[in-house]
Amino acid sequence: MKKDDCIFCKIANGEIPSSTLYEDADFRVVLDIGPATKGHALILPKEHFENLYELDDAVASKALVLAKKMACRMKEVLHCTGFNLVQNNGAAAGQTVMHFHMHLIPRYDDNALPLWKPQELNPEDAAALVSLIRQP
Ligand code: AMP
Ligand code: ZN
Repeated sequence: MKKDDCIFCKIANGEIPSSTLYEDADFRVVLDIGPATKGHALILPKEHFENLYELDDAVASKALVLAKKMACRMKEVLHCTGFNLVQNNGAAAGQTVMHFHMHLIPRYDDNALPLWKPQELNPEDAAALVSLIRQP
């Protein structure tokens, strides 16, 4: 299903022009208008899912296969030396467009773009988190 007031629904379904790198029945891949690096692109499902929690399992599987295909293509033609696959959920995580998308971010040796600052994990916190999060 599409959502009427969603810009990524409109882009994914071709109602708004975009720099399209790939399209099939389920997805459109477009260049990001505010790229972090050369080639930064977005995988957009044509159906509206707000985030990862709501994403259909079959679409989720296809999205990762497509991400791999695009990453291999970009590596080949852009000669990037690294690659980040980024996917934000919720404003606290930096999501600004509430339609599920995956960022394809080619990385280059001359490009410093730290995605997070590592902190320390102490054994007590690790044990508490394992008992809280571990999937039964
Ligand atoms: P996020 O912060 O994960 O929600 O990412 C949203 C991304 O969408 C940002 O990197 C924006 O630069 C990008 N963006 C927003 N509007 C457009 C648009 N019309 N076409 C292409 N990319 C867009
Ligand atoms: Zn949408």
